[in-house]
Amino acid sequence: MYYDKLFKLMEWTVEKIESNRSRIELMLEKIDAASEADIDHAVEHVTSNFDFSIPGVPTLVGVLVEDFIDSIHARLDHKYVIAVNYPILPSVTLGLNYAQKRTNADIYIFASTLNSINVLGNIFDKYTRVLEVGELVGQAAGRAHCAQYQAEAGLFELGILPVPDQVIVSGWFCDQAAEADEMLSRIFGFEPLYLEGVMDWTWEENLDERIVHYDANSIKRVFNRIEELTGLVANAEDTNKGWQYFGTLANATVNLLDMNAKASRQIFSHADISLVYWSMFVAADLKHEEKVLGAVEKVIKAATERVEKGEGILPENSPKIYLGMRTICDVKNLKIIEEAGLHVTHIFMDAFTKYELMPPIIENPTPEIQATEFFFKRPGLSNAGNLYQYEADSMKQYNCDGAILSYLFNCRPWSLGAVMGKDYIEKTINKPVMIMEADFYDSRLYSPEQQKTRVESFAEVLKLNKEMEMMGFAE
Ligand code: SF4
Repeated sequence: MYYDKLFKLMEWTVEKIESNRSRIELMLEKIDAASEADIDHAVEHVTSNFDFSIPGVPTLVGVLVEDFIDSIHARLDHKYVIAVNYPILPSVTLGLNYAQKRTNADIYIFASTLNSINVLGNIFDKYTRVLEVGELVGQAAGRAHCAQYQAEAGLFELGILPVPDQVIVSGWFCDQAAEADEMLSRIFGFEPLYLEGVMDWTWEENLDERIVHYDANSIKRVFNRIEELTGLVANAEDTNKGWQYFGTLANATVNLLDMNAKASRQIFSHADISLVYWSMFVAADLKHEEKVLGAVEKVIKAATERVEKGEGILPENSPKIYLGMRTICDVKNLKIIEEAGLHVTHIFMDAFTKYELMPPIIENPTPEIQATEFFFKRPGLSNAGNLYQYEADSMKQYNCDGAILSYLFNCRPWSLGAVMGKDYIEKTINKPVMIMEADFYDSRLYSPEQQKTRVESFAEVLKLNKEMEMMGFAE
């Protein structure tokens, strides 16, 4: 069939394509990509975004697509459908997935919108329609609503994703997610289960244990409600397995990033590195557990070999920069930065901080308390000021020559962060910072050509600074 070439590229076997024909075709119809021209475009688009010659990359892309197809079929395949919405990582709810796997309960628990945004944006180039439809369903542009929730509205309205029975709504850190899902729950009729969060801790001060207990209780309440509705209970072993799986993927991501940041030249494009990072989003569907772990291992092995051989995608000693945002829907702006000759060491909250690496403050924590304390230690989730401190500290750690920060035009928490972060970095570590327009979930409002010119000028400044620094060092 006309679409086989795309699936073969992602290392789907002929037998697997054959046995999934009706599922693939339903997906292509739903996303308006059921033609040879659409598939030719998708092949061109995805191969320009990701390097399929890196071992593990085709599998990771293939898993994103398979997970997307499964999520489209969730209502047809399962009695209950439960979605977990961002900004909360699946680590908090993975225990439920292990409980489902252990009991074989007829429930599908998934990180719905994130993977759909990624697949539609970076693989099929069919994302814009979803945002536009979402804007017609109460998530209008200019009303300060997050584009992730414009996308959720569009995905439900277009019938791409089924409306779940319950949505675990993240009230942690960001109020827009909870506000938008409250509105969408009334339009589409799902039951919102709120994680209430007061994420506020200035790192140097004592951890406010009362707040941690309050937030942890909201996880407990969500789990209790799911038990009441479906009978599903995550026991201690399920929860531990969830944290272990999440921890394995998180550590693999941090190791890969650390290796790339310390190398004398950038090893892989961050588009490819992001595939390992994104594997945490599809972690909620344990169907791909072994395949994902195997592919991640291959990517890390290939990266190690490149370091040993001194290979990479940029010349040695290119200026190193910290990038303040990882766009989920479009890796093109990453490519622009790398093509300008800048070695991107780490992105947003990639690196672990000294706070995350320290032992738990609250003794004998329940799994919910452990999860909550973990998020309080993450830069930016606990307190905006902590993010700026993390940015400056991690830039020093990786010898960065500068930074590119982005204000997110659709996001209240991060719309000002770039301006304040620039001020903090320039004052504390005296490194140049450029601010670039971008958004996690919406690439319509900036032009790659315009970004390219600005990034190239910034790269020239950093290259000159670097040459002068090296000459001074030689003297
Ligand atoms: S992008 Fe911003 S507004 Fe949207 S969920 Fe994330 S933090 Fe909240």
